[in-house]
Amino acid sequence: MAKLSLPYNRIVVKLGTNLLTGGSSQLDKDIMSNLSAQIARLHQQGLEMLIVSSGAIAAGRHKLGLTKGLKGIPYRQVLASVGQNSLMNVYENLFSQYNITVAQALLTKADLADRSGYLNARNALLSLLELRVLCIVNENDVVAVDEIQEARFGDNDNLSAMVANLIDADLLTMLTDIAGLYTADPQRHPDARLIPRVKRIDPEIERLAADTQNKSGTGGMATKVEAAKLATASGVTVIFADGHEPDVILRLASGEAIGTIFSPVHTRLESRKRWILSGLCVRGKLIVDSGAAMALKSQRRSLLAAGIKSLQGRFQRGDIVNIQDPQGIRIGCGITNYSSADIETIMGSHSGRITALLGYDYGTEVVHRNNLVIL
Ligand code: GLU
Repeated sequence: MAKLSLPYNRIVVKLGTNLLTGGSSQLDKDIMSNLSAQIARLHQQGLEMLIVSSGAIAAGRHKLGLTKGLKGIPYRQVLASVGQNSLMNVYENLFSQYNITVAQALLTKADLADRSGYLNARNALLSLLELRVLCIVNENDVVAVDEIQEARFGDNDNLSAMVANLIDADLLTMLTDIAGLYTADPQRHPDARLIPRVKRIDPEIERLAADTQNKSGTGGMATKVEAAKLATASGVTVIFADGHEPDVILRLASGEAIGTIFSPVHTRLESRKRWILSGLCVRGKLIVDSGAAMALKSQRRSLLAAGIKSLQGRFQRGDIVNIQDPQGIRIGCGITNYSSADIETIMGSHSGRITALLGYDYGTEVVHRNNLVIL
């Protein structure tokens, strides 16, 4: 079928639990059927669609008729294990009406943490898109254990941002049951206004999000904004919108302004830089002085030892580190040429002194600008 001229080609649609259940205790088939029809239509128009769907835990809880905690068995894992199957069953039935084949991909943070895991997942998802299979992604809650925070996304907001980053999506629509980001919590402040566009996620936007209590889903507004930050920094446009809005996915895909649109920060980042940015395996932090922060941000310079004030964490040469300004704001991240032990010795010094201080050197840059992503 001929592709229509639409602003986005590759779209990740994130569907939250509260939307899929309509606020009830089970999956709402009518809502799911409506959302699926819209996604099917775009798929049939030639767009590359991918779904990140919650709802497994809600479906599992309903199926088992459980309201009380399960003694001795990790509750979330059991519910997800039972419910994921039901969730997929609903999608399978809905999309088969349109002759669309669906696939399931269950990911954990740990799977993506090293570069090869990241590339493997990316290849699988891109191959599915190429075969015109509609992939439905969820976190593998059965094995992603609560206790190991680093191994688990914990919410599908961050997972969807990571998937958008992985497949280099043009648009990530995060659909929930509220209309978008407001100037204040709309539940408590009736005069709160919807913010139609956010050009850059700055500390003020993060504060607004933190102030907005959101009963919707696991994440809440602060988590959604954190996820939007990753996606927009990867070159993806992000939209928060109410999934109950009529034809919302179709209208967003055609460029209509609904909800809150977050503009992408970078045009497009090469895949390796998107992986650096994903923050999946950040091992430490370099705190730089204001001169270095300025040089990194406005002049796209490499980070030199002279500009580093302090560091946190233990890391090796080749690891990914966050870079923070003196105010404590993360300004970027990159691959370090020196280990934390080396940097402790050379920080604050001129690059010309590295060999004298260490007895060797790996170049004048601690983080070369080719391996650096500035937010
Ligand atoms: N993965 C969870 C589920 O399928 C949902 C997590 C979330 O909504 O953020 O139920």
